[in-house]
Amino acid sequence: MKGFRVPLCARMRAIAALLPLLALCACGRAQQTTTRTLYAMDTVMELTLYAADADEEADALEALIRSTEGTWSVSAAGSVPAVLNAGQEPEDAAREVVGQVLALSERCGGAFSPTLGALSELWGFSTGAYYVPTEAEIAAALQEEKWDFGGAIKGYTGQIAAEYLESTGIPCAIMNLGGNVQTYGEKADGTAWQIGIQNPEGDGCLGIVCVSGTASIVTSGSYQRYFEADGVLYHHILDPATGSPARSGLRSVTVIARDGLTADVLSTALFVLGLEAGSELWRESDDFEAVFVAEDGSIWATEGAALSGCDYEVIARETD
Ligand code: AMP
Ligand code: MG
Repeated sequence: MKGFRVPLCARMRAIAALLPLLALCACGRAQQTTTRTLYAMDTVMELTLYAADADEEADALEALIRSTEGTWSVSAAGSVPAVLNAGQEPEDAAREVVGQVLALSERCGGAFSPTLGALSELWGFSTGAYYVPTEAEIAAALQEEKWDFGGAIKGYTGQIAAEYLESTGIPCAIMNLGGNVQTYGEKADGTAWQIGIQNPEGDGCLGIVCVSGTASIVTSGSYQRYFEADGVLYHHILDPATGSPARSGLRSVTVIARDGLTADVLSTALFVLGLEAGSELWRESDDFEAVFVAEDGSIWATEGAALSGCDYEVIARETD
């Protein structure tokens, strides 16, 4: 690939056995936890708080997640997308988040676009009525600016859940928001959180990412939502340049960042950009790491990604 070099030491081999998704194999001594499973934002979420009898905090987190869902849902009356679609201004806090999304969108050259709602509807990804549109229909939907924060809001939700936990006495927590993982705090035994990356080709996990403290680990993948028509797979991550599912040669991208909104926006954007342009964006940045899984099965990780359990190529900051 032009302009994309792999250093000599690139071939990394780790001996750790693969663990199931979200296996927390380094939990150390047994700690009491409070867990909560809920269905929100179209997915199953699991909250694990490292404290006994933390039901009140789990209730508060569940309420926070549900209200965030209502605030950002494309379909709820009075939601931020509905207000924006009506040409009105949302209230201050939401306006700030919209501003952050737009700044991130600009940072990735528009690969993440929060106004693709009409296009997502046309393809049926937001309605379930899957359909392969014509070029003319795609062009018309691209003209229509309809707000959709579906590619950003789960990461943002994890971030504000972690912010809420700061106001409690709970020392640490891990929250699986439908494959988007948010960690909070340092574990009592001092070991890192270990997060499994889903194998795009099937069940189980492809490798493990280690993080310490509060972080967001978000995966965007073509395997997450798709349909097949005439032998062709169409997935839900759309390229704003073409109006069709992004064909960037990737199966998934995982982004690790301190900021949940950043992680979620960039996971979608890097998927659209592909390995080469996505690596360039990483080189220009200092606030995230990434793991790319290509369609040919190769795995590529930025040098700070702390990936283990699989063979992969390291993406170096300096190219020679
Ligand atoms: P994610 O799973 O975070 O990558 O988000 C995918 C969701 O974001 C889709 O289901 C759409 O609602 C929306 N989406 C799809 N393509 C894009 C894009 N290029 N930019 C922003 N949002 C998108
Ligand atoms: Mg995303």
